[in-house]
Amino acid sequence: MRLVVDLNRCQGYAQCAFLAPDVFAMHGDEALLYNPQADENQRDDVARAVAACPVQAILVDADDRDENPGTAREVTGEQ
Ligand code: SF4
Repeated sequence: MRLVVDLNRCQGYAQCAFLAPDVFAMHGDEALLYNPQADENQRDDVARAVAACPVQAILVDADDRDENPGTAREVTGEQ
């Protein structure tokens, strides 16, 4: 699975690093490091991180699945 963190939004709250520590890590007080090609078996943890991020900075891209991009997309954590 692919994911992107909008670092302009990210405020370094580190919720994601607590919930999906294999994917996200804090480097120092504010810098976020993450794996943009997270393994499929991290999907549940990443979903929790997406839901917990206070500024909805984490975007998960489902296009590595065999889906028709013309159909409605599932949007997670969007308000
Ligand atoms: S939870 Fe959101 S704001 Fe906090 S470090 Fe992760 S991406 Fe950034």
